[in-house]
Amino acid sequence: MSILEHFTEKALQLMRESHTYRKMRLLTSPESSHVKVASEAFFKEQLLLASNSYLDLANIPELKQAMAEAVLEWGTGSGGARLTTGNKTPHEDLEKQIAAFKGAEAAISFGTGYMANVGTISALCNKNDIVFSDELNHASIIDGIRLSRAKCYVYKHNDLDDLKRQIAEAVNSNGEKLQNPSVRGLIVTDAVFSMDGDLADLPALLKIARENGTLLMIDEAHATGVVGRTGRGLAEYFGCEHADVTVGTLSKAVACEGGFVVGKKQLVEFLKNKARSFIFTTAMSPAVAFAACNNLRYLAKHPERVKKLQSNVDFFCRALHRFGLNVPSVPSAIVPILVGDEEKALKLSLKLEEEGILIPAIRYPTVPKGRARLRASLMATHSEEDLELAAQKIAEIFKHLE
Ligand SMILES: *Cc1c(COP(=O)(O)O)cnc(C)c1O
Repeated sequence: MSILEHFTEKALQLMRESHTYRKMRLLTSPESSHVKVASEAFFKEQLLLASNSYLDLANIPELKQAMAEAVLEWGTGSGGARLTTGNKTPHEDLEKQIAAFKGAEAAISFGTGYMANVGTISALCNKNDIVFSDELNHASIIDGIRLSRAKCYVYKHNDLDDLKRQIAEAVNSNGEKLQNPSVRGLIVTDAVFSMDGDLADLPALLKIARENGTLLMIDEAHATGVVGRTGRGLAEYFGCEHADVTVGTLSKAVACEGGFVVGKKQLVEFLKNKARSFIFTTAMSPAVAFAACNNLRYLAKHPERVKKLQSNVDFFCRALHRFGLNVPSVPSAIVPILVGDEEKALKLSLKLEEEGILIPAIRYPTVPKGRARLRASLMATHSEEDLELAAQKIAEIFKHLE
């Protein structure tokens, strides 16, 4: 066996033994509320309760047509980095549209949301700086912090007293550091937490950031197009100002590809010059930038879609309650149905798939041991009949397994 084979086989074996080995599911139809899943013996239609395409914009004929025409006009690729020859009209239009949508001074787009987080945190912070990070933050935030080499204090999930304690401790053990204007403290948090569907308390975090002279960065990947009366995110939901740095993605509710940061003009100018995941990569395909911009414009013109999504979430949570399942009423489109036991969660998910309902089981290490769950995510195009039936089936199988 070669060194590589030995190493990879051992790692795979360990993953299989600890039930963390992952296999990809193959979908043979476009992402929508109903999809076809390739299974061992046959193709089966499933009700999809697992998508990030919350507003189901991926298959709207006029949006598809617009993207196709953009390919005909702009070709297949951008041909260069944004700072060389890649920057085309659709890229700048997209950034104007993002800034307008978020009510921010300026926006910068990245190839993905992952790249937005990694590039932004590592541009803003270096090894002298201090980051305060919610324990449930997305992997791309964690990777950005690691890349920055800043000192990181992890606070308990949404526990603002713990955050204050950690800030106090950081001030203590770093002397005057946090008061030194050349040293930055950065609080960073998901806006909507991806496994629990709960929100960060933006007004309270803004207050803590102001009181302690730190920056605040929030990641609205699951909030954009979902949270707030018209889907503009946490500031709209709470009726408060924006964080200093707001990250988002164009790959979830916007149903395209790319990530972004919005904030002050100067922040955006800084990131264009400093964020390595912006500089050292080819600009997204102009047709993709065009489609993201066009989808975002569509979203802004159709707040009723956001409203329908929100009413679906409300309907689904109430249906689950009616069938005797205890789920939190979430302010996002992610509904966690806590099961506890890992094996039971997996069985539940498999049984549901046999019934034509696709809801993944989320287990350790994605969530803590003994906190396994079904993670349902809703779309604006689910019908109430679909959701009622799904809630009933989930409750039935849940009880059957007890
Ligand atoms: C999905 C997600 C990202 C990554 O966005 P992509 O555009 O898919 O790379 C970043 N942060 C959070 C919180 C996410 O859920």
